Amino acid sequence: MTSLNDLPIRDDLRGREPYGAPQLDVAVQLNTNENPYPPSPRLVKALGEAVAEVAGSLNRYPDRDAVALRTELAAFLNGDTPGAGLTAAQVWAANGSNEIIQQILQAFGGPGRAALGFEPSYSMHPIITHVTGTAWINAHRDEDFGLPPERAIAAIGEHRPDLVFLTSPNNPTGTALPLEAIQAVLEVAPGMVIVDEAYGEFRRAGTPSALELLPGNPRLIVTRTMSKAFAMAGTRLGYLAADPAVVDALQLVRLPYHLSAVTQAVACTALAYGEELLGAVDTLRHERDSLVEWLRAEGLMVADSDANFVLFGLFEHRHAVWQGMLDRGVLIREVGPPQWLRVSVGTPEEMAAFRDALKESL
Ligand SMILES: *Cc1c(COP(=O)(O)O)cnc(C)c1O
Repeated sequence: MTSLNDLPIRDDLRGREPYGAPQLDVAVQLNTNENPYPPSPRLVKALGEAVAEVAGSLNRYPDRDAVALRTELAAFLNGDTPGAGLTAAQVWAANGSNEIIQQILQAFGGPGRAALGFEPSYSMHPIITHVTGTAWINAHRDEDFGLPPERAIAAIGEHRPDLVFLTSPNNPTGTALPLEAIQAVLEVAPGMVIVDEAYGEFRRAGTPSALELLPGNPRLIVTRTMSKAFAMAGTRLGYLAADPAVVDALQLVRLPYHLSAVTQAVACTALAYGEELLGAVDTLRHERDSLVEWLRAEGLMVADSDANFVLFGLFEHRHAVWQGMLDRGVLIREVGPPQWLRVSVGTPEEMAAFRDALKESL
């Protein structure tokens, strides 16, 4: 049998591991931060009708620029952050925000360039960075997973990266950044600044979005996704808001017709049902806050969370705890700093199963 190392694969890919959150058939899946509530029967029907409508013209390529979808996404963001005043020209969409991030790196990174991130953070940022031939610089958050402006400024001053990744709320810690930290980064960063807001809709009241900083900052990119709060992970739809010139730059690297007609129709329909889909966000926020309280009452360390997951510890042998949970039918995530585990917020029934399994596993 041929192994991939027998192939003339790129030297910089040799020995690398593919991204791999386990996809196991377990009753309670709390490991990839999905929204646990499936689409309602009403929405399922509307999605079917929307797909049927485009089915008759699937012999044709889709709208290459996805204008209708981008218009709807801009309207959604303007509701999320009043005063954002975004238009379709400032919004770009792709197959998941991972593809958005890849396009950003293809346009602004590449051989001889470097991207910097503050870890612990989202594991796909360095992976996509490497795949595009861009160097990755690993800077660090402080002990409580925050990022004081002085720390960010020092790291950027030292490395002068072409791209800076900030994740807020951060995965896997749940930590949201104050706008002052993002502003400080924008002032010193020599290149593009990407604020990954995959969990933006879950932020606690009073936590602002980086969308507020877009005016006057043409090098700022805010990325969002329909995979989490919008409960559409299976659709694969991510998007960004930025200066129109950034959207022009991404059109140089995107594959023609990258967003299928089916994807565009499904995403537009989901946006039309946005109120219903996002209705579960408040429920999940409450469930998150009581989960944090419960874990603390159990004597565990818990990072403050503005997202739909919680990082908790400290475990001397976290793998044993993770395995103990799995043996009891609850899949969580072994991710982040060595002594921590992450659990996504599920339905009340799933969280009850989580609490029982954790008590038995400790
Ligand atoms: C889940 C997640 C994404 C979303 O990826 P999609 O490709 O849109 O599903 C992006 N960034 C972070 C930090 C995430 O946790």
